[in-house]
This record gives sequence, C-alpha cells and structure tokens, in this order.
Amino acid sequence: NVRVRFCPSPTGNPHVGLVRTALFNWAYARHNQGSLVFRIEDTDAARDSEESYEQLLDSMRWLGFDWDEGPEIGGPHAPYRQSQRMDIYKDVAEKLLTAGHAYRCYCSTEELDARRDAARAAGKPSGYDGHCRDLSAEQTAAYEAEGRQPIVRFRMPDEAITFEDLVRGEITYQPENVPDFGIVRANGAPLYTLVNPVDDALMEITHVLRGEDLLSSTPRQIALYKALTELGIAKLTPAFGHLPYVMGEGNKKLSKRDPQASLNLYRERGFLPEGLLNYLSLLGWSFSADQDVFSIEDMVAKFDLADVNANPARFDLKKAESINGDHIRMLDVKAFAAACEPWLRAPFANWAPEDFDQAAWEAIAPHAQTRVTVLSDITANVDFLFLKEPVEDEASWAKAMKGDPVGLLTTARAKLEAADWASADSLKEAVLAAGEEHGLKLGKAQAPVRVAVTGRTVGLPLFESLEILGKDKTLTRIDAALA
Ligand code: GLU
Repeated sequence: NVRVRFCPSPTGNPHVGLVRTALFNWAYARHNQGSLVFRIEDTDAARDSEESYEQLLDSMRWLGFDWDEGPEIGGPHAPYRQSQRMDIYKDVAEKLLTAGHAYRCYCSTEELDARRDAARAAGKPSGYDGHCRDLSAEQTAAYEAEGRQPIVRFRMPDEAITFEDLVRGEITYQPENVPDFGIVRANGAPLYTLVNPVDDALMEITHVLRGEDLLSSTPRQIALYKALTELGIAKLTPAFGHLPYVMGEGNKKLSKRDPQASLNLYRERGFLPEGLLNYLSLLGWSFSADQDVFSIEDMVAKFDLADVNANPARFDLKKAESINGDHIRMLDVKAFAAACEPWLRAPFANWAPEDFDQAAWEAIAPHAQTRVTVLSDITANVDFLFLKEPVEDEASWAKAMKGDPVGLLTTARAKLEAADWASADSLKEAVLAAGEEHGLKLGKAQAPVRVAVTGRTVGLPLFESLEILGKDKTLTRIDAALA
C-alpha cells in the first residue's frame, strides 16, 4: 500500500518547485490508490508563521489537491503539525542516546570552526571529526561543570551507504562524506534531520519523493532508519526518489526568492489550476512524446516514476502560458465566464462595478475564450464594452493612421449607419465596402475603426465586438474620433 507525503515548512509564499513536489506525490498516491499524508514541518519557530500555514492550505485547496491524512481532516497519526509533536521527538532522541546511536556533543561553535579550518588547510575532510563520540565520564563531567550546553549528535556507521534512487538509480555515499550530524539543538529544539525521518517512520511512509536539493540528507536518513528499526520505532525504510532541479533564467536553479517562482504570481495572473499543474507536471516528467496538453485525470492515469527524468528541467513561462491557454479553451463557455468573474469586477477591472454589463459579457465571452492565455488578459480585451470612453492610446492611433483615416472613417461611419446591426456580417460588408472606396483591404480598413471604438490595435473579432457594443455607442465613438 503506497503511502507518500507532502511535508512543506510554512515559510513564505508557496513556490512552483514546492507545487511540483506536491503534484508528483499526489499523482503517485492517486495513481496507485495509495494515501497522501500532508504534514506541516513547523519546528523552526523563527522562520515559520501561521500566515504561511494558512496560505499553504489555501494554495493546496486552490490547486485542487486532496489529502488522506493531515491538517483539517486528521488521521490515525495525528497531529500532523510537527510543532504539536515535540514530546515524540524528545522521546525518540532519548532512546537514540540510551542505545548509543546518538551522543551529546559539547563542542562550541568556535572550536568546531577552528578544527574545520585546520582540516581544510591540511586537505582533510572538513565535516565533524567525532571529537565527542566517546567521551569518558570525567570529560563529560568536566564539560558539564563548565556550563556547556550539549547538542545531540547522531553517530553515523563507519560504512558506505548505498541505495537505489527511484529516479537516479544506484547511489553510494562513502562514510567520510557523511559525518555525524546534529539532531537536537543545545536549547532542546529537535532539527529537521531528526523530525522528518522520525515522522516518515511513524507515519509509515513507503516512498519519499522530493527535490534533488535533499539528496544529500538521504544517507543520513537511511542510517537513522536503521537505528529506528532496531529500536522498534520504524517498521520499514521507504524508497527514495529525487526530482530534478528546476532551472530558471540564465540556466540558474530557480530559487524560492525568484519572483517567477511564486505560486501567487500565477494565481494573480489568472492561470487555471489545471493549466498550471499540466505545465508543472512536465518539469521532469513527460506524458508522451507527442502530447503535452492533457487533463489532470489523464496525468494521474499515466503517472509513473519510471518516466521521471533525472536531468534538470527548464522553467519556460511562455510554454506555461500557452498550455494554460489550451486549458482555457477546454472549458465550457459557462465555466470560462465564471472563471473570469473576479477579473471583471473591482479591484482588477479598470471600469466602475456599476458599468459592468452581464448581457454584453455573456455575448462576448465565447470570442474572448478563443484569445486569452491567462484570465487576467480578459480586462484589456473587453474593457471597451464597459468603459464610458475607450482607452486613449496615442501609440495605437499612430499605427492606425496610415493613409487617409479621416476619409476612411467618414465613409465607414456612413455605411455602418445604414448596415443591419443584427448581423456581424453586414457590419463587415460595410467596412469592406468603405475600404474599397479608399483602395484599402479589409485588414487596413478595419484598423482605424477598431482604434476608434476599442482604443486598441488588436483585440477580439471586430464585427462581433461592434455588434455587441451596439450601433449608438459605435457611431458615437467614431464621431468622437473624427471630431
Ligand atoms: N520540510 C522539508 C522542506 O520543505 C521537507 C523535505 C523533505 O521532503 O524531506 O524542505
């Protein structure tokens, strides 16, 4: 029975790397009819915040993820917030100390630094040197008498650790590269190095899928698992799979602090959750050689770790937008109209809420749906319907003012006035005929009409737009442009 976990720390805004990790775990759980455990790793009081915790939950809900155990729903291994599990970690640390798998280390930071520098200078491994591994009772008493506050350090076995990474294949760490490591701070606070594998053990996690940045913690966790198994705390050691790095601009690792990495950015720009997830799924995985747009259900049906690639993935905003646009077109028009609602009303919209016209919106929505790639694009495409006057844009006029726009607009106005306003085709005929009189093809002839009526050089299909705006407003705007 597959049990995976998503265990973020609530520090700052969720970022796309975190979402990709959540997605792969979620898809793996659903594909295998397993369980997703959602755990909050909030043991770092200085960096974690309640606000970030709320944001995490909100983001998970917005993305459409569900979990089988975790915040708000509980489960057999509750609580799922590490800040509420401190007694458990204290107890495990005691047991590790008693069994000799861990020891108290009294070295001060200054001493550690000095010895590390000396080792480096001598070209030796510079990790912890095992100074406090086997202190005598007298040495310990002397350190205690000095008032030193010890940390708890895990005793790594003196042997190579080999494991089969689900993505990267066999990996071996030599003992000199994995020194003994701290698991409890001098003030008694347990560290990630302890609480993460302890909870994975207690929550009976079968597969740990996480970012490649955590690869180097795996040999430590495997050693700790061995000790926990011996103590009867762990029942099994999970399999580990490390998802490839995501590269951003300039082929540098996309960092949490990168503005492009913030999930909120994608929400604010109007990505659909399914469009964003579709795109993020391609960061290290592929659906098939010739298809990169698919539904989440299809992704889950096909998701297999064997198809996860170890090579770094490149984050490509243009591709993300294009895939999102495809998902927008996959919506039925009612769902599209509803998804746009937040952008059509204050505070996003640049028109007054009372000027919003529901009927006009419903009429234009099918035309808009074929054009936008992110929902926030909607306002610039439909604002001409709701603004009292179109946006004034010198640059647009400059582009449309080729030839004799005044003559053209005057002729077009007369022909539009006589046209059948129940038919977009009739409006098109009117502008086409006006163009002919001035020796202009349709494309050139409609440009000044579009700028006069919508304020922009590009937009939704023009004649449908005019029909929906209506005869009076259209002619008034052309008159204003001619005045
Ligand atoms: N809380 C850790 C993080 O957010 C979890 C790492 C892991 O998956 O083991 O980086």
